[in-house]
Amino acid sequence: MSATVESRAIDAAPSLPLGELTDVTCLACGCLCDDIAITVRDNQILEARRACAIGQSYFSSHNGPHEGPIAAIDGEPAELAQAIDRAAAILNAARRPLIWGLSQTTIETQAAAVALADQVGAVIVLGHENEARAHLRAVQRVGVVSATLGEVKARADVVVFWGVDPAVTHPRHFERYSVEPRGRFVPDGRAGRTIIVVDSRRTATAERADHFFEVTEAQQFASLWVLRALIRGSHVDSARVSPMLRSLAELLQGARYGAMFHGPALSGGPGGQAKVEALLLLVRSLNAVARFVALPLGGPGNPTGAEAVLGWQSGYTLCADFSRGFPLQLTRESSAHVLLESGEHDVALIVSDDPRQLSPTSRQFLERIPTILIHPNATQAPWTATVALNSAVPGIHHGGTVLRADGVMLPLRKVLETPRPTDREYLESLHQRLQILRMRS
Ligand code: SF4
Repeated sequence: MSATVESRAIDAAPSLPLGELTDVTCLACGCLCDDIAITVRDNQILEARRACAIGQSYFSSHNGPHEGPIAAIDGEPAELAQAIDRAAAILNAARRPLIWGLSQTTIETQAAAVALADQVGAVIVLGHENEARAHLRAVQRVGVVSATLGEVKARADVVVFWGVDPAVTHPRHFERYSVEPRGRFVPDGRAGRTIIVVDSRRTATAERADHFFEVTEAQQFASLWVLRALIRGSHVDSARVSPMLRSLAELLQGARYGAMFHGPALSGGPGGQAKVEALLLLVRSLNAVARFVALPLGGPGNPTGAEAVLGWQSGYTLCADFSRGFPLQLTRESSAHVLLESGEHDVALIVSDDPRQLSPTSRQFLERIPTILIHPNATQAPWTATVALNSAVPGIHHGGTVLRADGVMLPLRKVLETPRPTDREYLESLHQRLQILRMRS
């Protein structure tokens, strides 16, 4: 496999005129639109039809040329074989390596990273662990009534956006899934749906909704809990329930099929897990009067896939410790910052997540230990990795599989040529070199 990585770099074919490609998937936001038509000439993306402005900018940002070295050691350009040897030697000597990232790559690469973590006895932490922790813990504690976006499109006549602004962050969500499409049981499309926004301020999504309810961040938990009490017919002090919450409860109860979308604004900050649990329990209670589902909008790349792969392979969804030879849950705070600050990790391997997400303090810790960085811009990272390996971009330079936030698998298509190996090829190459090193020792 290591020969494969190097020969890909050496034998990279000159740019081919690929022409028109359909059903390309855009990874720029959680919509993961898989209907993009791309025009390519001379290894440049000329047009990305059906992509929104964010998607257009995402596709055009990957136009080459990708100049400069593929690999670097201590900031200096290096031969690929030499860089991989160095990376393998670092991992081989590690006592307690940390593998971090993986939210911006394919399921296949994520599986290869978990296999490597198993091989070297690493702690593995997903790059979006901080944002996802409250939501996942809430789902694990109280469960979730959910559906695919296809089902929402076909059936939902009441759609609630709670603390999210997809008109800005997920520009084609309305068009593809939630508001405008004609569904089998919503033949009139937008005219057949009631759109409700609950947020702490009037957003772009609120401007396009039928109803807007202003609920400050401090009131969110109480509002969700009171709504649930109203839906369940529990005793509430009616003098203390605002008319606004009563009318929102009536709208929710009037649904034939409701869908409630939420996002990091609800789960972030103090009490995030409790707020998500309150929303999930509200949706569960609404199922006594109508079919109702809860769905996150989802983030860019493949964070849902990363959670699924780690869950499938270790039993834990956001972080796992392989140092004992079998997966264990980390029993304490598991953010990259806290783990690096603890000083127990002597090597860090960062794979396909933006290292700029790491706090300046985390980066200071990274500068003190050997680091291996596999990323499309590894040689331009905000700190100098011991070994930097520039990788191909998933969904642009190579195919694979990603998981949408509703659990639907989507294939990626290769659009452009590159001499760079994929992140998966790097990981498999490291895996094989480590096997050889261990057989020799
Ligand atoms: S809505 Fe999101 S996934 Fe779809 S084209 Fe725009 S940025 Fe890409």
